[in-house]
Amino acid sequence: MSRIAYVNGDYVAHGRAAVHVEDRGYQFADGVYEVIAVRNGALIDGDGHMRRLQYSLDELEIAMPMSPRALAMVIAETIRRNRIQNGIVYLQITRGSSPRNHPFPDFTRPALVITARRAAFPTDAEGVAGGHVITIPDIRWSRCDIKTVSLLPAVLAKQQAVEADAYEAWMIDGDGYITEGSSTNAWIVDKHGRLVTRPKSHAILGGITRETVLRLAAENGIEVIERPFTLEEAVGAREAFLTSTTSFVKPITRIDEHAIANGEPGQITLRLLKLYIDYMKSCAA
Ligand code: PMP
Repeated sequence: MSRIAYVNGDYVAHGRAAVHVEDRGYQFADGVYEVIAVRNGALIDGDGHMRRLQYSLDELEIAMPMSPRALAMVIAETIRRNRIQNGIVYLQITRGSSPRNHPFPDFTRPALVITARRAAFPTDAEGVAGGHVITIPDIRWSRCDIKTVSLLPAVLAKQQAVEADAYEAWMIDGDGYITEGSSTNAWIVDKHGRLVTRPKSHAILGGITRETVLRLAAENGIEVIERPFTLEEAVGAREAFLTSTTSFVKPITRIDEHAIANGEPGQITLRLLKLYIDYMKSCAA
C-alpha cells in the first residue's frame, strides 16, 4: 500500500512529498514538531501533544497554520489514508519558505507537513527487557523545553549510543546532573521506593509520556519527587527507567559500565509499564 503525506493543504504520494528548498525548517531548523503514538486507530495523549505544539509555536512566534479542530481533522485523515492501526504520526510546522535571511520574514505562511507510518509496538517480552544507557555531556542550547526540529545534538547523542550498543544516551549538565535522554526523559527510583525525575524547566523537554506517568504514579500511590539527580545517584539507584511516546516506560538496567541494583528491571518500573500499557489500551477502547 502506498504511503500518503499531507503537505501544505495537499495529500500527496509519500515518495513525491516535498517542501521548498528555501523552507526555513530546511535552512535554519526554524520549526517545531510532534510525534504521536497511534494505538488501535486512536491517538495516545493527542490533547497533550497539541498543547505542547501550541507552546512550542508560541515560544518561537510561529502562527498555528489552522484551527486546532481543522488540524485534528487533517491528522485523522492522514491516519485514515495510510490505514494506520498501530504506528506513529509525525507533524512538523516551520515558519515557512522565504528568501534566505535570518530575521523572521514579513510575509510568509507557516508550512505544515504530516506523515504517518505503521510501527510495531514492543512485544511484551521486548517491553520488559532492560536497556543500557551511556552518559555524555549535554551540549544542547538553553531552551530544550521547545520541541524544535533543531536536533543535531540529539542525533549525535543517539549515534554514540548506537555505536556503544546502548539503547539511549543520557546527557549530563555542567553541574553533574542528568538532564534527559536524547529523545526520552530520565527517571530513577530511590532507596525509599520514590520516583525521582528532573522537574520541567528550560533544561528538558516536557515529555507527554512523563506527564502521563506522573499522573499514573499519583493515582496509584507511588510517591514522586521532581528534582534533578546526579550520575552518581543514578548509578546507586534501586531502579532506573526512561519514558517517551515510542519507548513507553523502558527499564534501564545498566548506566555506562554500572549495573543498576541486581541488573534486572525493577518492580516499580514494571508496574508503571503495565499501568502505562493499560492506559494506552483504555485510550483506544
Ligand atoms: N526528551 C526529548 C529530548 C525528546 O526528544 C523526547 C521525545 N519527543 C522526550 C523527552 C519524550 O517526550 P514524549 O514523552 O512527549 O515523547
